[in-house]
Amino acid sequence: MKILVAVKRVVDYNVNIRVKADGSAVETANVKMAMNPFDEVAVEKAIRLKEAGLAEEIIAVSVGPEKSQETLRAALAMGADRGVHVRTDIETEPLAVAKILKAIVEKEGPQLVLLGKQAIDDDCNQTAQMLSALLGWSQGTFASKLEITDGTAEVVREVDAGLEKISIKMPAIVSVDLRLNEPRYASLPNIMKAKKKLIDQYTPEDLGVDVTPRVKTLKVEEPPKRSAGVIVDSVAALVDKLRNEAKVIS
Ligand code: AMP
Repeated sequence: MKILVAVKRVVDYNVNIRVKADGSAVETANVKMAMNPFDEVAVEKAIRLKEAGLAEEIIAVSVGPEKSQETLRAALAMGADRGVHVRTDIETEPLAVAKILKAIVEKEGPQLVLLGKQAIDDDCNQTAQMLSALLGWSQGTFASKLEITDGTAEVVREVDAGLEKISIKMPAIVSVDLRLNEPRYASLPNIMKAKKKLIDQYTPEDLGVDVTPRVKTLKVEEPPKRSAGVIVDSVAALVDKLRNEAKVIS
């Protein structure tokens, strides 16, 4: 089977996010960017499935500006076989990305699409679900375990109440949670090899998808500053503060 993995270029999770002076968006100029951490977990899972003999080819897909190719190269250096770059300078929303992924699925014919459970820049947690609806495929979201046997995917989902195990029919869309695995680092030889791997290029227009935003951002603000914490010298002092100052216990 072929596996498609969606990888998004986002502000690196170590970066201290700054809001633009005009409050229109988060500052991304001269800011370190990286692959969305959940997507690294998805790439790792695809590679492990290939290593286990369950997949023949892994195709990484990224939608975004020219520099998204760096993110694709990172996925290729980890072990994806080839890349697909859908180039747009418009900040894409989940529905547009889902429509683009659907078009790529129709071209490539994968049995499994792996995505992150959410992109850490927009925190939407929508793309996988929308893609599943558009394709009419099964979905397993927030996967912390994924096993594939005979046309079925067993997914352990991280839900509020604990862990939920479901069995879904393939082809399927699975969005992954951080506990699924620990992504590998790309070795230097693999980084070099990745430079030669193929990246197909499209525009949203080539795929017949209109990426014009439907949501208008009115204002972006930094969260209110939190006051510094205090170190208490005993459990009794902690309980006292929780009861009488924070009033979170009675
Ligand atoms: P979201 O619904 O925006 O929180 O994103 C969920 C997941 O969809 C991400 O973890 C990615 O796997 C995928 N995704 C979202 N946007 C893009 C994009 N521009 N390019 C590639 N994959 C994306």
